[in-house]
Amino acid sequence: MQHLTDLFITIQGWLFDTFVQPVLFALGLASYVEMGFEGVEFVLLGCIELVIAYLLMRPLEAWWPAEKWAERRAVKVDIIYSVLNRMGVIPLVVFVLLAPVFMELESWLRFHDVIPRQLEDWLPGLDTKPLASFVIYLVILDFAEYWRHRLSHTFGWWWALHGIHHSQRQMSFWTDSRNHLLDDVIAGVWFACLSLLIGVPPGHFIGLLIALRLVENLSHTNTRLDFGTIGDYLIVGPRYHRWHHAIDLPADPRFQKGCNFAILLPIWDILFGTLYLEKGLPPTGIHERNAEEIAARDNFWAQQKLGLVLFWKALTGPGKSRSA
Ligand SMILES: [Zn+2]
Ligand SMILES: [Zn+2]
Repeated sequence: MQHLTDLFITIQGWLFDTFVQPVLFALGLASYVEMGFEGVEFVLLGCIELVIAYLLMRPLEAWWPAEKWAERRAVKVDIIYSVLNRMGVIPLVVFVLLAPVFMELESWLRFHDVIPRQLEDWLPGLDTKPLASFVIYLVILDFAEYWRHRLSHTFGWWWALHGIHHSQRQMSFWTDSRNHLLDDVIAGVWFACLSLLIGVPPGHFIGLLIALRLVENLSHTNTRLDFGTIGDYLIVGPRYHRWHHAIDLPADPRFQKGCNFAILLPIWDILFGTLYLEKGLPPTGIHERNAEEIAARDNFWAQQKLGLVLFWKALTGPGKSRSA
């Protein structure tokens, strides 16, 4: 393990010295050096996460697919999203946009003594138990992710963006990153704000993000493999999330906006009455309403444009949230 950590730090240092530092100095941004170094770590871990996801999940799709496809053309656009997201382009944009705001916000909160006591302050023994504190933070963040996801199906303006994630009819592990760029920014702000407010230790932050991302990749995998009758109620798997992506919503009015919003732990759907888990593996997608929406199904730029148009319409008029 130590060898791997050393190798990681060596690569991080090389990337930083070769590409990032010269650019920062050239742009007169020397004060961002430390942030730049952390940014490289973020990008590098994103790449590693994507390689792990590919090595673990691509064989599942090849050997035990939920759906067999005649061709994989529709998957291409999701690969673009994954590369942009995991290789750091989107996180970098979010980071550049948010870093100054966050620094301000953090110092304001600290100045006014609002920065919450960390979990370790409430549970004193916890700082000697990093695994326990990791799990507790994971559960809290997952709870917040459940509500972010559920609200993105509830508000018309948010569904205008999140609908892009649902428009994929050939869902694969790449589909996890298929999100409108603005939706990514909102999700990034949501996650970062909460992490700040509950005082996630910086050492945990990336680990938490990677743990959630791997589960999210797996839950989109086109495979009939599941976690078993009990396991599927304990952790979100491919069958569980496929029902969330089902093209037709369950008839029950409780699921008018969707079902199975949980990202990691089904317990939130169970507690808040949004669980719907049947035996089968339904087809995925949404029913597009016009030719423009159909044309956007496989096209990155058309999706970005459509999302913004619908977003604006929803903000300025009666928007449509997720509905059958
Ligand atoms: Zn959704
Ligand atoms: Zn999804």
